[in-house]
Amino acid sequence: MDVCVESVVLTPAIEAMQECGAPAEETEEKDRGAETPRTGDNPADSSKTKTPQTETAAEKNPWSAWAWLGLCKTPTRKIPNIVHVDVDAFFASVEQVLNPQLRGKPVLVGRGCVASASYEAKFLGVHTAMSFREALRVCPKAIVVPGQYEHYADFAERVRRILETYTPAVETAALDDFYLDFVGTERLYPDYEATLRRLQEEIFGRTGLGVSVGAARTKVVASIASRLERPRGFRMVAPGQEEAFLTPLPVEKLHGIGHVHARMLAERGIATIGQLRRVPKAALQAAFGEAIGLQIWERARGLDGREVLLPATPKSVSRETTIEGGTIDTEFLGGLIEYLCERIGSTLREYGKQARTIGLRIRYVDHFSAHQAVRLSKPTNDERELLIAARELFGKLFTRRVAVRLAGVSVTNLEADRRQNELFDTGANRRWYLNREMDRVRSRFGWNAVFYGKGLALREHYATKPNGLVLSTPCLSR
Ligand SMILES: [Mg+2]
Repeated sequence: MDVCVESVVLTPAIEAMQECGAPAEETEEKDRGAETPRTGDNPADSSKTKTPQTETAAEKNPWSAWAWLGLCKTPTRKIPNIVHVDVDAFFASVEQVLNPQLRGKPVLVGRGCVASASYEAKFLGVHTAMSFREALRVCPKAIVVPGQYEHYADFAERVRRILETYTPAVETAALDDFYLDFVGTERLYPDYEATLRRLQEEIFGRTGLGVSVGAARTKVVASIASRLERPRGFRMVAPGQEEAFLTPLPVEKLHGIGHVHARMLAERGIATIGQLRRVPKAALQAAFGEAIGLQIWERARGLDGREVLLPATPKSVSRETTIEGGTIDTEFLGGLIEYLCERIGSTLREYGKQARTIGLRIRYVDHFSAHQAVRLSKPTNDERELLIAARELFGKLFTRRVAVRLAGVSVTNLEADRRQNELFDTGANRRWYLNREMDRVRSRFGWNAVFYGKGLALREHYATKPNGLVLSTPCLSR
């Protein structure tokens, strides 16, 4: 089986945020800080450092130009800006999308124990982590499928791309779990609730997957809200309503409280979050330890200092794949390198980057490997230019009459894509527009909707998936 390793080395999110401009972040922090103190923040300290409010120019003279400008400014309303989007019964739903015969039927995914169960099975009492023996006793008609991880990763990526069309601040918490931050989008989306419902419908329309949506001012409340009315749940918790929303819910709903903690609390007569809120902080810290006790105390009030992490910026991009048994067929290897360059070009454009250096690595079946990198004459994210350089490197590196079992292409020295129209090289302009349209077609109809000539030979060799070729071994179906 062939293995394709796709890696994008990322800079920490904090650097990306600094690049984006710190002042915006600071104002956002201040704005949110008023309602959601960070973990470990001491309110006493903040009161010490608080500076007395100085009178503004508009307050000094209500007839001044500043005052009039202030009148023109519409005050921005507070929205439950943190949105949690979670795909319902993710693996099982993907199986049902891929195989229409499974739709409407109880489906169990996994090996040995249930990794995911469709809602048809869940309604009959099956839950995740249940052993198959028990699950089949509860639901004898359930259809068991081993799972295809490669497809799940594709679907998760497609969902993420749809989410990114609504806001750039999308954090992937788990494969099918996303946090979005809509802060500052009040003018862009005047009807916020309708926007979130449209987002839910769009994901269903374009991927066939049902998602549950929860919106609140903090991550903890948003994630509880999204999980309350599954499948295809929708819940918005208005700012200021967090405590009222949480009060009647059982304590297990709080993130960080498992069965053991819940049992400990139940022994003390605490079943709901409202009852938990009446327990003093010191008592919780004595029972659960300093850090967890404080966390439970905060979460019971809907407080959560965690922010939605901005997407990180890549420092390098590499794509490599192994070839089962190895091959000496240079046509095939050329096609594979072309495919890898296409993937890299597409990733670079997605991040708005250009590469200055390209490297090629090949490994023979006898484990001898060769690698060389070359500096490009000008930075690029055009796969044709990358391919020309990669082919040259391949010509230099492939010197032995031994089969190759791994080929990899990588780009480094990335810089922002500051493309300007080429005055003399009109071919480059045409390529730029071509790539842009290719990306657009692929984002809408999948990777295989359009490909270069050599791709045809590759497609005879490999199965296709919505996001490209199946080069890798699905870890669940191994
Ligand atoms: Mg899920």
